[in-house]
Amino acid sequence: MSIISDSLKRIKPSPTIAVTQKARELRAAGKNVIGLGAGEPDFDTPDNIKRAAIKAIKKGDTKYTAVDGTPTLKKAIVSKFKRENKLKYSTDQITVGTGGKQVLYNTFMATLNKGDEVIIPAPFWVSYPDMVLLAGGKPKIVKCTEQEGFKLTPKKLKKAITKKTKWVIINSPSNPTGAGYSKREIQDLAKVLIKNEKTYILSDDIYEHVRYDNFNFFTIAQISKLKDRTLTMNGVSKSYAMTGWRIGYAAGPKDIIKAIGKIQSQSTSNPSSISQAAAVEALNGKQGFIKTRANAFKARRNFVVKSLNDIKGINCLNPNGAFYVFPSCKGLLNKKTKLKTDTDFVQKLLEKENVAVVQGSAFGLDGYFRISYATSMQNLKKAMKRIRSFCESLSR
Ligand code: PLP
Repeated sequence: MSIISDSLKRIKPSPTIAVTQKARELRAAGKNVIGLGAGEPDFDTPDNIKRAAIKAIKKGDTKYTAVDGTPTLKKAIVSKFKRENKLKYSTDQITVGTGGKQVLYNTFMATLNKGDEVIIPAPFWVSYPDMVLLAGGKPKIVKCTEQEGFKLTPKKLKKAITKKTKWVIINSPSNPTGAGYSKREIQDLAKVLIKNEKTYILSDDIYEHVRYDNFNFFTIAQISKLKDRTLTMNGVSKSYAMTGWRIGYAAGPKDIIKAIGKIQSQSTSNPSSISQAAAVEALNGKQGFIKTRANAFKARRNFVVKSLNDIKGINCLNPNGAFYVFPSCKGLLNKKTKLKTDTDFVQKLLEKENVAVVQGSAFGLDGYFRISYATSMQNLKKAMKRIRSFCESLSR
């Protein structure tokens, strides 16, 4: 009999964390590896936020807090939703966790019974299906093609919904494609969802502030009649370059919020008191740097998309948010190159040119790979040169 539980056997370690770890190991072994696998801004947390944390420590805010967030942070989150999304919530509709990841995990743990289905549009963030599996649910993967801009269509959504569908996940802008849904596209999905009264919507808005080209961000609770059935999740990791602080939050129906708090009360209790104080400053403090940083990301995106599209055999859409691109390598998977899958492609790329990217199949769509351009322009220039030389060597 194995000591490891059956539920754990259903899941695998995060492939994006695995790639980052592999790149770290190769670097430690003396290789000059460029890692384009990690999903975190390379910018530092702004100083005003750091100062708020230091002040909290000095003041003695170093004790347990309310399990699902301090009243002050909840108030800051309520203001954020009102200010940025025209959404009205009360503090008992807010929960705060140790990163958006914990909020999502707790949500599935709190709501899924065995066999309940969760519609996950692919390409998806790697953790969704495994979290659902761990909670005893059934991920229902709906593949969204490059021609569809990697976005869920109302037709595919309608077809995927069954009596057992408990949640539909919408992630815009998306990890791993960077694709953002327009107001119209969200409203068209809402038209399908409004008719399916037992289905809830999980809107993962973690990349809300990383967007370009005047892309207008909308979240489904704001522009539909589905607010009562929507959990709107967000966090400070990506917007405020605070991945290590571990603060994520969600707003939604009181019964779900209470249930999430119940799990948290028996697992981790409150997220770090100091990080919560920092998150208050992030949400209430000056916001100007968000735009400046988005502009820096935009310059990198422009460079990466152009460089990739200049390579024979690679095709890359121009996304309007997040810090990822999801190019196709299908043009290079053939007998001549001796590469069969995207995994072959990324492994050979790492082996030959020391560039770490993640295979598309890890995100539920074969024939692609994900590049995170949240790294310096200097690194990106080197990486694009290496990717180009690798692809050209394959065709020779
Ligand atoms: N959702 C998506 C789509 C993500 O890419 C991530 C992080 O990579 C998260 C949620 C969770 O972020 P965090 O736990 O840092 O708040």
